[in-house]
Formats: sequence, C-alpha cells, structure tokens
Amino acid sequence: NSSPVHHPDWVAEVHATQYLQSWSKQGGRPRVITGAEGSWFWDSNGKRYLDFQSQLVNANMGHQHPRIVEAIKEQADRLCYIGPAMGCDVRSELAALVAEITPTNLTSTFFTTGGAAANETAVRLARHYTGRSKIVARYRSYHGATGGTLSLTGDPRHHLTRADMPGVVRMLDPYCYRCPAGHEDVKTCPICRGGPHLEEILMYEDPNTVAAVILEPVVGTNGIIVPPDGYLESIKATCEKYGILLIADEVMAGYGRTGKWFAVDHWDVQPDILTSAKGINSGYVPLGTMSVSAEIANWLKDNALPGGLTYAGHPLACASGVAAIRAMDDEGALENATRLGEIMREELRAMMQRHPSLGDVRGLGMFNGIELVRNQETREPLVPFGAKGDAAAPMPAIMKAAMEKGLYLSFYNNIVRLTPPLNISEHDMRHGLSILDEVLDIADSETR
Ligand code: PLP
Repeated sequence: NSSPVHHPDWVAEVHATQYLQSWSKQGGRPRVITGAEGSWFWDSNGKRYLDFQSQLVNANMGHQHPRIVEAIKEQADRLCYIGPAMGCDVRSELAALVAEITPTNLTSTFFTTGGAAANETAVRLARHYTGRSKIVARYRSYHGATGGTLSLTGDPRHHLTRADMPGVVRMLDPYCYRCPAGHEDVKTCPICRGGPHLEEILMYEDPNTVAAVILEPVVGTNGIIVPPDGYLESIKATCEKYGILLIADEVMAGYGRTGKWFAVDHWDVQPDILTSAKGINSGYVPLGTMSVSAEIANWLKDNALPGGLTYAGHPLACASGVAAIRAMDDEGALENATRLGEIMREELRAMMQRHPSLGDVRGLGMFNGIELVRNQETREPLVPFGAKGDAAAPMPAIMKAAMEKGLYLSFYNNIVRLTPPLNISEHDMRHGLSILDEVLDIADSETR
C-alpha cells in the first residue's frame, strides 16, 4: 500500500482530541492503520494483525479486494453521483442482482447508506402498509443507532435514546444455552420454539395493533445466537396468521456470513422485508438495502414509499455491491465460509477439553461465537452481563493479549465473536485459532 499522508503521531493525536468515536468515551489514542489486504491489516509500526472480526463484521471479502476496488474506480470515472430518481445502470444492476439472490418472494429493493437507515425505513413502511403501529423486537438485538432503530435495539445501548420510539414490544430470545425460561429441552420451551411465545405476547397486545416482528435471524452483536430449527418457521407462521409482517434484519448475518446468501435461507423462511448492509459490498462504500415482497412492491405502486435519502442508490456504492456479489459468487466465498466454519467449530470444541473457561461454541459459516465461563457445569459467565470496570476486566485483557500476538478479536459481555472474512485461507484461520488457544489461558485463570 502507499505511504501514509500524515505522520502517525499526528493522526493519533487528532483522533484523540478532534475526532469523535462511536459508542466510546473519547480521548484514547488509537493504533494508526496504514494498510490492509485480504484477511490482514497493519499499523504504522509495520505490525500485522489477522482480522478475525472482518472489522465491524462487514469486510466479508477481506480488505482491498481488487475487483471491488476496481469497480469503485471505474464508476468514479464514469459517474460519481446522480439523484435517486434517475435511471442508473449500476443501480438497476444491483437491484436485479439482489432480487436474484434474496428469497424468491422479495422482488424490489430500496438502497440506503447502511443498516440503520434500512431498518428505520422498513419499520416505517410496515406501519404504513399494515396501518398498525406496534413492532415486536427482541432483547438480544442490535438494529442501529438512529432514533427508531436504537429503540428497537434490545441491548442496553437502547437506554441511550433517553426517549424511546413508542410502540416497541419486547420478545425474548431463543438463547438455548441460557434459556430465558430456564428450559433444558428446546421441544418444551415456548420461547425457543418461537411461535408460542409470540402468540402469548400478541394475546396481551392485540395482534391487530402489531405491524411487524423484526429480528436478526442469527443474532450478531449480542452474541451469535443461532435459533433452533423450527424457530423462524414458527415465528413466520404466527406472523402470517395475524397479518403481521416479518422483517429479517440481515445486516450482519446476510451476504454469505452464515455460508448462505442469507441466514433465513438455512430454514427456507421468506420474510416480508429483508434488510442488509455491511457484507453486501464488504463495507468499501456505505450501502444498505431494504428488499420487499411482491405484495408490498405492488402496494407501493399506489402508495408512496415513506422514506428517502440523498444517497439512496449511490452509484459508487451500487458499483461496489455488484462487484462484491459477483466476486463472492465466482470465488466460492460462501462454500469457503461453510467449510472453514465447520472446521473452526470442530477445533473450538476440541479446545473445550483443554480450556475450562470455554463454555459454549456456536455459529453458522463464518459467524461464530464462544462463551467464556467461570465453570463449564454452572455456566457462570466469565464476566456478568453489563459488567463495567474491574468486573469486566478479563475480557479486554484477553482481547489485548490477542492483539499483541497479532489477532484482532471482538467481544460482547462474556462472548467472543469469531467472524473472519468469508474468503480467509485455512492456514490463516488455523493461525488465528492457535493464538486464541494461547490467550484463553487468561480466561482459564479465572475459573473455579
Ligand atoms: N442491524 C444489525 C443486525 C447490525 O449488526 C447493525 C450494525 O452493526 C445494524 C443493524 C446497523 O447498521 P449500520 O451501523 O450500518 O447503521
């Protein structure tokens, strides 16, 4: 990569003093990153890091993929921007491509600048389409940082709205490792079966007031929670029974992350609306999508879309999306994610014998997580949910040790997310796991 424009010390200083960073207390001096390629990035000291996180779980095809970079350059030469109402070849090409790979009932797509804008529009559209106001959303969820989507978000960050969007109703999660109802058997658990729990909520809320259920088919940020088979089918059937729309938030799970184009494909569930962002173009240019069913698309012929953005269908973003999807397809990225994901979970399960702190291994494709515990039997989490300060200390200590050894990881409470690029090599993946194996000793020292 080319040499940096500014001295790294200056970059770090301005970052700490004049740049405001997402979700953080300000003032920390960052590592200054000067380049990246494939599954690796490196800092101004030349130290290399294996990106086991794909940044914000968006670099699905890794860094600086030549085909995506080239498509952006070509499009910049041809046409950088044209308003959303104008016809534009890459915009139409991406809309057609998205319709081809999303579930067959979804025909038409609104492009956004990211996941939050996609969800915000989806919820507003669901309210207009149904004429109802309530939205059912789950606790272990993240849907974005706009007013509406942060209110839909169940994780504690939603407290930061100070005044939630009205009409959000909460549903519990099919989090079988720590079943919210204390059940051991999925078959008898109304929450993990999905429909029965939703039915009970609707009984109290009145289904005629509920516009949509929004959920991450596989939960991402909040702990890589894969629902048991039958869960999504059951939620979808319950929604259909009452004329409630199902919105699948595939912002993190979509575009090959789980080894299929979309997580819902694992269960052949057809949501009425599907939102995406991140992996659609590996994050090279801001882009999100809201795809709707033929019925909704038809309704939109007589009713205006209740939403819009200056950058809806931005040509640079669309060009990068087309290139990324074609590259994923041509290069077998989904197949690689499926194959290596299975190896990864197998290796991690083997590590459970050596590491008493390794409580659970779960995931699909390259969307994997491990739970760190103080005791495998009792499943007491290594750090309590929402812990701060000293109580939370072991997790950042593990991340820091991994970073020092050149492995970039992320965590949420006691859960470590393992989400490398879909096209990572087996060699690099095993290298990352070997570093994880070493740093888990830190967690082991906290077990009892
Ligand atoms: N939905 C999910 C499932 C996400 O993981 C995220 C981001 O992490 C969002 C929505 C918000 O997307 P964005 O940050 O692009 O607005």
